[in-house]
Amino acid sequence: MTVVTRFPPSPTGSLHIGSARTALFNWLYARNHNGRFILRVEDTDKKRSTTEAVESIFDGLTWLGLDWDGDATFQSQSLDRHAQVAKELLSSGMAYRCYCTPKELDEMRVAAKAKGKRVFYDRRWRDKSEDEAPEGVPGVVRIKMPIAGETTIHDLVQGDVTVVHEQLDDFILLRADGSPTYMLSVVVDDYDAGVTHVIRGDDHLNNAFRQYHLYRAAGWAHPEYAHIPLIHGADGQKLSKRHGATSVQEYRDVGFLPEALRNYLLRLGWSHGDDEVVDTAQAIEWFNLENVGRSPSRFDPAKLENLNANYLRETDAKQITSAIVERLNASQSVTVDATGEKRIEAAVPHIVQRAKTLVDLSALALFLVVAPTFPLTEAKADKILKNGGAKVLGSIAVTLRSISDWTEENLDAGLRRRAEELELGFGKLAQPLRVALTGSTASPGIFDVMVILGRDESLSRVTSLLDFETE
Ligand code: GLU
Repeated sequence: MTVVTRFPPSPTGSLHIGSARTALFNWLYARNHNGRFILRVEDTDKKRSTTEAVESIFDGLTWLGLDWDGDATFQSQSLDRHAQVAKELLSSGMAYRCYCTPKELDEMRVAAKAKGKRVFYDRRWRDKSEDEAPEGVPGVVRIKMPIAGETTIHDLVQGDVTVVHEQLDDFILLRADGSPTYMLSVVVDDYDAGVTHVIRGDDHLNNAFRQYHLYRAAGWAHPEYAHIPLIHGADGQKLSKRHGATSVQEYRDVGFLPEALRNYLLRLGWSHGDDEVVDTAQAIEWFNLENVGRSPSRFDPAKLENLNANYLRETDAKQITSAIVERLNASQSVTVDATGEKRIEAAVPHIVQRAKTLVDLSALALFLVVAPTFPLTEAKADKILKNGGAKVLGSIAVTLRSISDWTEENLDAGLRRRAEELELGFGKLAQPLRVALTGSTASPGIFDVMVILGRDESLSRVTSLLDFETE
């Protein structure tokens, strides 16, 4: 049997972190079993579905590296097939038409509520003959659910879950206008696609019982179910906008690497011993449903940041450079040329230690392509220049100009000698130099900065500052 898993998002917004985790688990399960992972857009709610959301979901999945097998399908394109199945259920006696008026349904609702019952429809048309049908009223089609007893589903995450049939209603398959309900569409689509494992959030567990009986009514083998606990925020509530960024795109935009987010989502609800950093190949090899936890996991942004920092440090400098260049170029005010790119690549090992995201890295790399201008935006740095720093610079510019072989050793020796001559601590001399070269009081080592910027650029930055001081 080929394992087939699926991800069926409703395209009403961008890809949510929780949905991305569901997609990831389905993807991993399929890849682990050499199976298929299919993508179906559940776009039957035309009012709430948008093409932007579809694109954003495709985009988010692609960015996360969750490739699907075959073309994505759209639920709205199989409505005839869904309706056809409802008609077959009518013919086989597993479904019936119900002609209740809205008023009758309201009365049933009130009566059920008074008795504290959740299921309100009293099945009054279940055993009536079609001859009794009112004229000119299309009616809805309802499934015949079992009445007595209970059903147990062997959920691969939750274990055995039982529901007494009293709690299951004869739900609607086809509305009065002939359109299929979600419950029908999802089952028919899963069946037609040969889905063997339904892995999804446990907010769908109640639906599973209804869907299970729909499979049985149709005479089809039902898939395995695995309902994963939802993701909570730090306050123990279901993860929502209140907790900050919740869409995959937001994390991409603020500079997270897809592999870091994927690793984080994997660990959010699934574990493999104490392993925190699990790469894709390992994840595919190790993923199973037994190790999915049964209680909700807490989304911890700090943990995600640390993981991202970890991945950044492991990523090839060239790849990080391209990402930084892309970000800087996208920020309008900057165009990174070949020289800038070279400098960034050389600086990556130095700045990556201080960054958690690509946004941090881009900010730390900016000085490599844009010379500081005055007044400096960083107040502390500006103050250093104004409080005598620029003067110190003037007195070391000569030393710097005299160094033609621009190596770390020569710069180190030359500047230390100069500090002694001026009877200044090395820090007092290095600080204004750092500010002039980077516009900031925090940067990689001063000699690394000078070597990366090169002799001409370093001298030009120092000189432009001297000009400033004489103005
Ligand atoms: N379209 C449903 C959702 O986005 C998916 C339900 C399912 O996985 O069966 O919640």
